[in-house]
Amino acid sequence: MKNTARTPFIAGNWKLNGGIKTVSSFKQGLLLPSHAEVVICPPSLYIHHFTTDTFGLGIQNISEFDSGAHTGELSASMAKECGCQYAIIGHSERREKFDETDIIVGKKVKASLDAGIRPILCLGEPLIIRERGKELDYIEQQLDIVLSILGPQIFKDVVIAYEPIWAIGTGVTASPKEAQTVHASIRAQLASIDSNAANDVRIIYGGSVNATNAREIFAEQDIDGGLVGGASLHADQFQLICNQIPQ
Ligand code: PEP
Repeated sequence: MKNTARTPFIAGNWKLNGGIKTVSSFKQGLLLPSHAEVVICPPSLYIHHFTTDTFGLGIQNISEFDSGAHTGELSASMAKECGCQYAIIGHSERREKFDETDIIVGKKVKASLDAGIRPILCLGEPLIIRERGKELDYIEQQLDIVLSILGPQIFKDVVIAYEPIWAIGTGVTASPKEAQTVHASIRAQLASIDSNAANDVRIIYGGSVNATNAREIFAEQDIDGGLVGGASLHADQFQLICNQIPQ
């Protein structure tokens, strides 16, 4: 049975895409379900263009530091001051292309919570690990490192996104059952620390979610919504995905 006490959560990650025209299309036309929380994560320079109560705002990355000589970085407290409620942390593109280790990811989750920004913590295995059937161990280890830095504070306001790397931007999704298996394993890992809190944590799926596959994925017991990349760049497509969130 799905736990209806967990408010469904959908975030759109524009990555290094979109611009003023995309911002305008989103400001004009989204009719979002009232039973879900919807968050848009545009490139940081566009965040201030959104002054809407209809959906929340997220930043795609934050520094592990709050201030100082870190040219080009943005801190969680700055994101907070500029109207963000969420920060995507540990996206596989950051881990792979910017050498973000699990330790750095853990520090960023902490920096985010300290500043009052809710982390969307991304976990996910590469294809080779999935082919070896080791995905559950891999994800458990990724989460363990964050837990070792934060302890049960992980439960406070964190959304966990399971994003198998082989499904991101490839058009290949994990099947609903494959995703559910990993989500259940993440929840069980958290439950071994605090079962009530684990029951409350939202665990969303990301990896080529679109208007056609969203309904089946979102219907799974431990899947509380989605992190959407490519399909979140088009307001009409994103709207259709949001419409698939179960009541
Ligand atoms: C993502 O960027 O987190 C993502 C899941 O991308 P896509 O939906 O394009 O696979």
